[in-house]
Amino acid sequence: MALYARISQDRSGDEAGVTRQLKDCRAEAERRGWTVAEEYVDDDVSAYSGKRRPAYERMLRDITEGRRDAVVVWHMDRLHRRPIELEQFVAVCDKAGVRDLVTLSGEVDLTNGDGLLLARFMSAVAAHESSTKPRRLKRKALEIAETGRPTMGGRRPFGFAEDRITHESSEAAAVREVAARLLAGESLTSVTTWMQESGVPTVSGAPWRTHSVRQVVTNPRMWGMRVHQDQVIGEGTWEPILTPEQGERLQRLLLDPARRTNRTARRYLLSGMLTCGKCGARMVSAPREGVRRYACRTGPDQRGCGGIYVVADPLERLVAEAVLQRLDSPQMHDALTGNEHDDAEVAALAAKVQDDERRLLDLADMFASGEIERVGMKRAREQITPRLEANRRALAAANGRDQVVEYAGRGAELREAWDGLDLSRQVAVVKAVLAGATVLPATQRGRRGFDPGRVVPDWRA
Ligand SMILES: [Zn+2]
Repeated sequence: MALYARISQDRSGDEAGVTRQLKDCRAEAERRGWTVAEEYVDDDVSAYSGKRRPAYERMLRDITEGRRDAVVVWHMDRLHRRPIELEQFVAVCDKAGVRDLVTLSGEVDLTNGDGLLLARFMSAVAAHESSTKPRRLKRKALEIAETGRPTMGGRRPFGFAEDRITHESSEAAAVREVAARLLAGESLTSVTTWMQESGVPTVSGAPWRTHSVRQVVTNPRMWGMRVHQDQVIGEGTWEPILTPEQGERLQRLLLDPARRTNRTARRYLLSGMLTCGKCGARMVSAPREGVRRYACRTGPDQRGCGGIYVVADPLERLVAEAVLQRLDSPQMHDALTGNEHDDAEVAALAAKVQDDERRLLDLADMFASGEIERVGMKRAREQITPRLEANRRALAAANGRDQVVEYAGRGAELREAWDGLDLSRQVAVVKAVLAGATVLPATQRGRRGFDPGRVVPDWRA
């Protein structure tokens, strides 16, 4: 008789190893007084994956040639996982006159209708179990994630080589440049254009889009964190491209739900920053005959008085010049060094955020080492995450000074480059120091040029 055993790669823990299958099957054969002519063993080959099973094929050949009269197998699912294989097996046995198929849970008489029905049923069950394989693969993926090693499926992440550990140097440099530009206040749209013009392609070769740039620089992998199912679960085994501080700021900047998405097509440097000196309403862009102007508007959607307008070009030049001077001024220096109260508040918030992030990492470690169960980890995460998010938002609000720090003392340098700067970058510079400005009515009618006295700036503290 033949004895067949198989172990598959995707063993789920309750599947018996080959050694146990063989031991049990030998005992069964002995109990029946049968002689084992040959033990056929396939190891580490999944019957379901459709890969070849050499031992099984040899056994079928031996049955066909009349050299085996019975088969002992530990369980039907060792023999077949697809119903079609069972049918082939039944046909071979029928032709060769083999009637005895024995499993440890009982005999299966393939010549009898009930026996065949049972075999078919078991084969269907085995096929169903194989379809739960993805679940096991998911668990395997989590195990790998918890060691901090990278996922290897799909496309490599931008910035990293195929091994997902080594940096792809030109791409890593591009990531750093993009991060620096965004943190300096340049818009995502403008940075995306720069990326497209830089000649560093996306991994897929598709053109750069704002969402793909955002995805790259907000991916925690860039600052060395291992993500599994959208959750940071620990540190990765690769060298980070960005610092965690940069990553944190980029996430606040680009993933903030309050962030407006329609920032494109800004053509007015002072949009939303000017107040009508007559009525206090917000002035809006109002070009006339090709001349860019800001105006206080009346109308169904506007609550202004309609009493003031100002031509944009000279006003914008004046404001930009004042801003650039301000950046190099002693007042700016004082403002940046004298804010101890704010600094303490920001530091306290940052410490809370860091503590909670550390807690999440510790949880992942505890889960990985088996100290806590998944349910416990999930419950603790659900307590920490809302608090962490709230503190991150508070930190983002308190952190409005990021951009001033970026530009302070660089007024002269920025003046040199001003006309070549992207509008969104100019806006970032202006907004770093200027909260807004009030525009007063023109007093000297017919005066040539622009009267600087009409603008009352509201500098940020
Ligand atoms: Zn007005």
